[in-house]
Amino acid sequence: RKAVGKLRTNSSSLDELLGGGVETQSITEFYGEFGSGKTQVAHQLAVNVQLPPEEGGLNGSVIMIDTENTFRPERIAQMVKGIKGGEDLDPEDFLKNIHVARAYNSNHQILLVESALELAEKMRDSDKPVRLMIVDSLTAHFRSEYVGRGTLADRQQKLNKHMHDLMRFGDLNNAAIVVTNQVQAKPDAFFGDPTRPVGGHIVGHTATFRLYLRKSKGEKRIARLVDSPNLPEGEAIFSVTTDGLRD
Ligand code: ADP
Ligand code: MG
Repeated sequence: RKAVGKLRTNSSSLDELLGGGVETQSITEFYGEFGSGKTQVAHQLAVNVQLPPEEGGLNGSVIMIDTENTFRPERIAQMVKGIKGGEDLDPEDFLKNIHVARAYNSNHQILLVESALELAEKMRDSDKPVRLMIVDSLTAHFRSEYVGRGTLADRQQKLNKHMHDLMRFGDLNNAAIVVTNQVQAKPDAFFGDPTRPVGGHIVGHTATFRLYLRKSKGEKRIARLVDSPNLPEGEAIFSVTTDGLRD
């Protein structure tokens, strides 16, 4: 087992909440309502993973499974330009290390992890091995395809397999796994707790770190670490700016 790596987010308070950054060989789930910043976090991590460790990165490349067509190369370019001294950096040098795959349905999404394993194996001895896998959104296809009570067990089983495959990817490649999950903010009649998504927390048992994101004033976002095995629960405030994530 290789030493766990930590991928920094550009927000020292969020990094601290995570015990130093997003860990490799773990699944970290960002969940929250629409617009809470899940996809912004994903973009920032796709940039940061490419940086050397002394700059918070893992000297690696990233595979991004995009299920809602929300990946934006222009956003990556803004974040690259937002790096200290980034005016001199070429966004293309970063974009070429972000391997984006559109997933058209949940089965396709599951299959893409197989292809990702092959790609990562090919790249293992390159100068930019795959050190980050993002699934944004993990749950959207599953939610829309499996509706109604009778299908919940099926959905759970498929998702569990998918999470297991992702965990394996993380272990084999010493990669961080980051997944997003959109939930409704409005307290649900049954649960009465906005941090517990309607329909139950369908990925709650396999993600190692779970962070609930919510909007605050303007650029501000609040991340709450929920149910971590080894870290204290707590909250971090960070900002989503044009340059990317900041304190
Ligand atoms: P979700 O949680 O639904 O994935 P996003 O990560 O897409 O949410 O967050 C969208 C929000 O991110 C926008 O409402 C805006 O506040 C912020 N944002 C997106 N792009 C930019 C940008 N170029 N500059 C500053 N803020 C941005
Ligand atoms: Mg999103």
